[in-house]
Amino acid sequence: MPIYEYQCTKCGESFEVRQSMGADGSSLNCPKCKAKNPKRLISSFSSIGSESFGSSGYGGSTCSTGNCSTGTCGLPMM
Ligand SMILES: [Zn+2]
Repeated sequence: MPIYEYQCTKCGESFEVRQSMGADGSSLNCPKCKAKNPKRLISSFSSIGSESFGSSGYGGSTCSTGNCSTGTCGLPMM
């Protein structure tokens, strides 16, 4: 079962969730502040642009997680 990384849109906390393929994060809560609907961070191996990010204006130009070595920040790996 794949592990997805989410980021809280309220406090910025990032956390990993193991869930089945195709599941969304609508039922998840931030482990820190309990806010709903965390944003899923794009992983390097999954399809890009499969989901609409709505009006959040996701740019993907900066690493907001500090986990660049894992390739989960949205930036391409060198
Ligand atoms: Zn939070």
